[in-house]
Amino acid sequence: MKKIAELWESYGNPADKQVKCNVCSHYCIINPNRRGFCRTRINLDGKLYSLDYGALISPGTNDPVEKKPLYHFFPGSQAFSIATIGCNFRCKQCQNWEISQSYPSEDGKIALFSQKDQQDFGIHSFLLTERTPEQVISQVKRSKSISIAYTYNEPTIWFEFIKDTSLLAHKEGIKNILVSNGYSSPEANSELINFIDAANIDIKSMEDSFYKRIVGVHSVQPVLDTCKFFKENNVHLEITNLLIPGENDSPSVIRALIKWVLENLGSDTPLHFSAYTPRYRMNNPSTSKNILKFAWKEAKSAGLHYVYMGNVYTTKGNNTYCSKCGELIISRQGYNVTAPGLSSENTCLKCGEKIPIVGNYTKSSRFSFF
Ligand code: SF4
Repeated sequence: MKKIAELWESYGNPADKQVKCNVCSHYCIINPNRRGFCRTRINLDGKLYSLDYGALISPGTNDPVEKKPLYHFFPGSQAFSIATIGCNFRCKQCQNWEISQSYPSEDGKIALFSQKDQQDFGIHSFLLTERTPEQVISQVKRSKSISIAYTYNEPTIWFEFIKDTSLLAHKEGIKNILVSNGYSSPEANSELINFIDAANIDIKSMEDSFYKRIVGVHSVQPVLDTCKFFKENNVHLEITNLLIPGENDSPSVIRALIKWVLENLGSDTPLHFSAYTPRYRMNNPSTSKNILKFAWKEAKSAGLHYVYMGNVYTTKGNNTYCSKCGELIISRQGYNVTAPGLSSENTCLKCGEKIPIVGNYTKSSRFSFF
């Protein structure tokens, strides 16, 4: 659905009717009848519109919060997960490219693909599901979820819909989760901290050259700025790093990321190293478990307390251990989450150490194994 956008301004000579979008660090200058880089925001007669307001890829689904991944935010709970289409990145390895690299028709009802994607992958279009924020909230209330996760594609380009939905969610005691690439602008971030409770941000590499080569943007710096800003403003934050062989998995790049997280976000910030598999326009081999283990050990020995491995079977790499006495606090086998060492006050049952977890553990009702 088309809706007048927020966070934009007129730009340049008024007769040219150009606009500047301030939602993400692209800061697109958009001519009349053209769209921004994300292809979801259009300039019509000198005004900026969001084309995917209320346009969902599906009615939504209950996901374990661990799938986001968030391991220190209401562990064991369910997050009602919704998404739209489009993205402000062009990642060659995108795991969800069918939604991130499609874009809405002008009435916001259909997801379309570039000619190149149509030719290369034989995919043409699909129908979107229309929902109002009120309809999403009533679905969440009927579900087992205690939160809404804006996930799968980059949610900040959906700014108006997540804002309206999140504000309603808070009125109903429902939490809001952002799973983001962190490229949102300072202007958007200043608003997001008012209604987003938790975020997982993907720092893909510490090297600008990776962002230029693989992602299609100039720099990692806006992502790092978003992480710091969220942390400073009490948004619960966890970091993901997808390790791609030959692209961002050298020891020096891994160590640079660990050092940055430690020095800027603190030793209690959960860091998830995740395994890549070939997708979309990247054919590099899958991530080996040895690289994940290397990254995990480096982060632990550097002083990060809560380090995890994702997209891979591991007996210990998904568990939370007490940073003081080493006791098993939370066990995660697939999405079966148990908390043998966690008190109701989120302390270690053995030594009393405070474990940095937001919200209470919920006994998970769903079994799923990698
Ligand atoms: S959200 Fe980002 S990519 Fe999209 S129009 Fe705005 S500045 Fe451009």
